[in-house]
Amino acid sequence: MSKEELHGKVAIVTGASRGLGRAISLKLATLGSKVGINYCYSPEKAQQVMAEIEQQGGEAMLIKADVSDAVSVGEMMKTVTNRWGAINILVNNAGISRDTLILRMPEDMWDTVLAVNLRGAFLCTRFALRSMINQGWGRIINISSLAGLTGSAGQSNYAAAKGGLIAFSKSLARELGPRGITVNAIAPGFIVTEMTNALPEEYRKAILERIPLGRYGQPNDVAELVAFLASEGAGYITGQVISVDGGLI
Ligand code: NAP
Repeated sequence: MSKEELHGKVAIVTGASRGLGRAISLKLATLGSKVGINYCYSPEKAQQVMAEIEQQGGEAMLIKADVSDAVSVGEMMKTVTNRWGAINILVNNAGISRDTLILRMPEDMWDTVLAVNLRGAFLCTRFALRSMINQGWGRIINISSLAGLTGSAGQSNYAAAKGGLIAFSKSLARELGPRGITVNAIAPGFIVTEMTNALPEEYRKAILERIPLGRYGQPNDVAELVAFLASEGAGYITGQVISVDGGLI
């Protein structure tokens, strides 16, 4: 892809203060896109992402918003369109996990995970869509998970949200294809971030033994695919779930 591949485009990446969202933001900016860096509780980290983009000569803005809250999502989209005139690329990446076995799972643990991972993607998509529809062009990329494809013991809330995100993506691909908007999901395997650093060491080791490529994924492994799906070259790909998992499944 050329360095100017996304020149003139406006992207919003949710949960961009750390981990995958950070890498995705940096990558899209490297390709010339303006990037709205959404964060919720980590302003300093989000600020660092913005500083890195600006050091590379890119353009970004910080937007604090809880993706599960309709009012703050609406304001986030308005802030971006007021400043940059449009939204072309939406990466629904913000996500959390709250793991426990189903018999021990309190309702709020279920609700919170569904609210951020699934309702968040719904809200961001709904508010970003108008601008894409007006332009007859758009890219929506939803960060799902291997858990959404295979299920995951002790993560029924997370897996349900991520599986829901896959069905959501496939439905939107059908609904929005005629409008020139593609919608795809990415299912990362085990990527080194704060989310996976929190997992027990023995679990991490057991996973590594099952990865044919013999290493954990890095955030940039996912960012590369996001960049491709956002590009013109991916214009005939929609409704797909693409795994980035080193061959784990
Ligand atoms: P992470 O390091 O824990 O980062 C999560 C990001 O989500 C942070 O930027 C956080 O922002 C943001 N966030 C959390 N709640 C939010 C909310 N209510 N509103 C807005 N932003 C919110 O996680 P990660 O590993 O990079 O994961 C990113 C995505 O990839 C998630 O959807 C995750 O489920 C998915 N994924 C990750 C892996 C993996 O192996 N790491 C595998 C499969 C799927 P603040 O800190 O500013 O609150």
